[in-house]
Amino acid sequence: MQHTISHELFSKAQQVIPGGVNSPVRAFKAVGGNPVFIKSAKGAYLHDEDGNQYIEFINSWGPMLLGHANPVIEEAVREAISSSLSFGAPTRREVEMAELIIDMVPSVEKVRMVNSGTEATMSAIRVARGYTGREKIIKFEGCYHGHGDSFLIAAGSGAVTLGVPDSPGVTKGVANDTLTAPYNDLAAVQMLVAANPNQIAAIIIEPVAGNMGLVLPKEGFLEGLRELCTREGIVLIFDEVMTGFRLARGGAQERLGVMPDMTTLGKIIGGGMPVGAYGGKREIMDCVAPAGPVYQAGTLSGNPVAMAAGLAMLRYLNTHPEVYTLLEQTSQTIVNDIRANCKALDLNLTINHIGSMFTVFFTDKPVVDFTTAKQSDLAAFGRYFQAMLHEGVYLAPSQFESLFVSTALAEPTLLQQVAQANKKALAAAF
Ligand code: PLP
Repeated sequence: MQHTISHELFSKAQQVIPGGVNSPVRAFKAVGGNPVFIKSAKGAYLHDEDGNQYIEFINSWGPMLLGHANPVIEEAVREAISSSLSFGAPTRREVEMAELIIDMVPSVEKVRMVNSGTEATMSAIRVARGYTGREKIIKFEGCYHGHGDSFLIAAGSGAVTLGVPDSPGVTKGVANDTLTAPYNDLAAVQMLVAANPNQIAAIIIEPVAGNMGLVLPKEGFLEGLRELCTREGIVLIFDEVMTGFRLARGGAQERLGVMPDMTTLGKIIGGGMPVGAYGGKREIMDCVAPAGPVYQAGTLSGNPVAMAAGLAMLRYLNTHPEVYTLLEQTSQTIVNDIRANCKALDLNLTINHIGSMFTVFFTDKPVVDFTTAKQSDLAAFGRYFQAMLHEGVYLAPSQFESLFVSTALAEPTLLQQVAQANKKALAAAF
């Protein structure tokens, strides 16, 4: 497989774009080698600038649930484009979008559209702070909520010490207001809340974590957070940017049966266009300007073309429940095949899986939080990634990511190809 044009483009890119990419993980730093430059995609396939074809497991980091260049979305976008790309004024589609989100996501009573997942989470914590009159938030180690300053915080040295900036440019002042706890550790959260009485505005969590690799909540963990937040007057925020409309029509909250006070959405909600949203209980959302005093705005928020793409996606999911059955079956086949390959090769790897998300961790230990995820053999993962790429399967270029299955993968020949590539790549990794 030749990557000559990709390499040339990467050299040029590095001269004009920091690190050659517009989002760090795309640079392949965690797996070595140079990134592949993508020219086009259709269904389950990506095509690069050198004419190579890959079966696709990133799907734009989640949004392309129905595969690439899906006609349902394409037609909606084409129709919207002819009526101008942006008005900066209210539109019918925004109302229809809000109504549909409220219908699909069980806990959302009012919703505001933004342009990315990052904007959604940044806005949600501002609203939670405005609503409660408190300043601190709790997040979980290994959960990612976009690149807002308040979320780029690492754990302090002790369980109840303050968080520390995880990136230059994030001030100590901001870090002081973000406390961190290990995922799945309810006792640690209870301790943080007890040590900061009446000071915690919000607990924000990925109800199923996809950003340290896939990590599932232990039984009772989310329920415990729900109880704690209700008792202490803390706003519970589920960051469903990844899991929303993926793990079920109503996201992880529907699938797991635990209701947050606020929800952040992104990725699938835009059908591939830049869209995010935050919503929740009416009385909390009515704090948002111009209904209430908490300011949040956006020139391109509710953009008509983005709304057209998102609406087409959500309407399709709302009226085709069989999508979720197909995603479950396809993902289960892939995971079963990988398990069978591991057995044949005498490898004991941990595979975390739910719905159409899964991660193969290169460790034989259970992965339940960021500490256990970090026990993975990253060098072996890097070799596995490169071998899969060589076999024509494009995985997320980091151990600490979830893979995303689309409906376009549901072809027996494709699944066989993936299983065969996986067997070769696992053998090459060790
Ligand atoms: N929240 C979660 C759970 C995410 O996975 C991401 C992105 O991967 C974000 C927030 C940030 O979204 P965006 O990249 O659209 O800003």
